[in-house]
Amino acid sequence: MSDRILIVEDEERIARFVELELRHEGYAVDKAADGRTGLERMESGEYDLVLLDIMLPGLNGLEVLRRARRTVDTPVIMLTARDTVMDKITGLDMGAEDYITKPFEIEELLARIRVRLRKTERRASKALEVGKLSLDPDRHTVHYDGHPVELTHREFELLKILMENEGIVMARSTLMEQVWGYDYMGETNIVDVYMRYLRSKLDDAYGVKLLYTVRGVGYVLRKE
Ligand code: CA
Repeated sequence: MSDRILIVEDEERIARFVELELRHEGYAVDKAADGRTGLERMESGEYDLVLLDIMLPGLNGLEVLRRARRTVDTPVIMLTARDTVMDKITGLDMGAEDYITKPFEIEELLARIRVRLRKTERRASKALEVGKLSLDPDRHTVHYDGHPVELTHREFELLKILMENEGIVMARSTLMEQVWGYDYMGETNIVDVYMRYLRSKLDDAYGVKLLYTVRGVGYVLRKE
């Protein structure tokens, strides 16, 4: 199946040109001409890569990226007419994988896209394992002792962070930031609520002890 690329760019001429070139290379392409539409499409998780302009109507590209990173980790290449160091650093800080300054040579953009997609494929084989528990980030699947464990997106993200940090006590605030985003304004006990969901689907369901509460601090996942 061909890789799907989303172009978030308000300059129709550039968007159209890049779209045609990408289609010519065999990619499936969608476009969004403003920040809000771009964010919605990114959040669908349907894309293998996103080309994201910074100067956009509605929400600017940096804001789109910041919000999108709460739920999806699709690789992003930022596009901008301005070669300012600040935008570059901000974009990379917020989780963009690469950066290209307009006007760019289409060949350079295509080369960067190929590099980025190859990296994603390599990452595809890297599943996490803690004892009998395994998690595949790209297939979005979790198994315990070979049995599939159905998790929601947030439960999955929470478990992923705990598995990546096996044996390390994770503060509630850290988990909150990483799963719900820095400026999450909802209930502060949301982490506890989701830990209960995870426990019922793992510890309780399989009669094991994986998820530990560290009073006053947070949570830790330990090998059985
Ligand atoms: Ca623009």
